[in-house]
Amino acid sequence: MVGCARRSMTTSTTPQRISILGATGSIGLNTLDLIGRMPDRYAIEAVTANGNAVALAELARKHGAKFAVVADPDAYEDLKAALAGSGIAAGAGPEALVEAATRPADRVMAAIVGAAGLAPTLAAVRRGTTILLANKECLVTAGDLFMSSARQSGACVLPVDSEHSAIFQALDPTQKKDIERVTLTASGGPFRTWPIERLTDACPEEAVRHPNWSMGAKISVDSATMMNKGLELIEAHHLFDIEPDRLDVLVHPESIVHGFVAYRDGSVVAQLSEPDMRTPIAYSLAWPERVEAPTPRLDLAELGKLTFEKPDYERFPALGLAIRAMEAGGGAATVLNAANEIGVNLFLQKRIRFPDIAQIVEDVLEKQILEGFGEPASLEDALAIDRWGRDVARTVIPERLERTG
Ligand code: NAD
Ligand code: MG
Repeated sequence: MVGCARRSMTTSTTPQRISILGATGSIGLNTLDLIGRMPDRYAIEAVTANGNAVALAELARKHGAKFAVVADPDAYEDLKAALAGSGIAAGAGPEALVEAATRPADRVMAAIVGAAGLAPTLAAVRRGTTILLANKECLVTAGDLFMSSARQSGACVLPVDSEHSAIFQALDPTQKKDIERVTLTASGGPFRTWPIERLTDACPEEAVRHPNWSMGAKISVDSATMMNKGLELIEAHHLFDIEPDRLDVLVHPESIVHGFVAYRDGSVVAQLSEPDMRTPIAYSLAWPERVEAPTPRLDLAELGKLTFEKPDYERFPALGLAIRAMEAGGGAATVLNAANEIGVNLFLQKRIRFPDIAQIVEDVLEKQILEGFGEPASLEDALAIDRWGRDVARTVIPERLERTG
């Protein structure tokens, strides 16, 4: 794992400074919940949000942040007003977001959703700090650039995604040559057992009602299409430097076993926990130590049994598309992610149907082959390919809707 040689335990008695990008979201709030319980150990440097100035200001005040930033410049006046008299500095817009990401913090939680997180998270990577990476779209959009920037700066990138936290705990980097397979588990989401024909009528409320996890809207829809697992395969490929053909997905509806590594002597090393994101977040906050997390404890006798099945690629075409993009390399994953973000947004706005999301991604991926984008070599490159994917997605949608009626 890049930059994450087992460092010595912390000996400092002053609290570690943490910045949280995407503080008002599901991961951001879970992180603040943990940090609020350990005031001697952690202090907040900067917090950011998209446009909810009031919620952000409240969090900044409660946790004694020094700097609060809204990505949306139109929310700046509200943020300033909500922070009046607190002594907390306010900022807005993309440059302020980068400033929040690069302030002197010991660890930066990257929990913005989507490719919107790439610029600030990459800036934090380039500063050489420890990154707690929830924002998987960063690695899908510009994985090589992200990881090579981390190698150059010495940044340690610690996974927050539960499956990758599991693999990080199970994978011995000194035994990489002995690894046969790395498997990420997937719950299968809310539509695992629906008749396939019914998926056409699936509405956003049903798609975001995840059976095991409570998450933001975008990742919940991604879990329903299983694009989330595809994005996670690409994330694992970059994070752990594992070839696509040694990466696997296994459906496990209970979400207790999060991932496992199979070694050539027949051993399989897995990580298990109740599905509560505060466990992997706590692991990333404290690594290489561990801290208390107020999560339900796993009781295997109570559970009785755990079940597993192969993924159904007919029901979940998005998963196959993501695997194709990972295998194709170059800018294919950047385009896949961009088209998916557009598709998910339109579905959440009830402007397209559930199966249209994967169809749009497929159409855009096909058009991408002609462009033959290489792997993004710079932030500007990544953002340009991302923009291309979004633009093409918007043009294929009317064509697609016309055809399907
Ligand atoms: P969320 O929608 O709940 O929160 C997203 C955060 O990003 C919010 O603070 C929002 O204000 C901010 N944001 C949104 N758009 C922005 C923009 N354009 N510019 C700047 N900030 C913006 O999302 P979440 O569920 O917390 O997920 C965050 C990331 O973590 C995603 O990449 C997701 O895939 C990943 N992740 C989430 C979970 C989970 O349990 N929620 C688990 C694993 C990985
Ligand atoms: Mg995950």
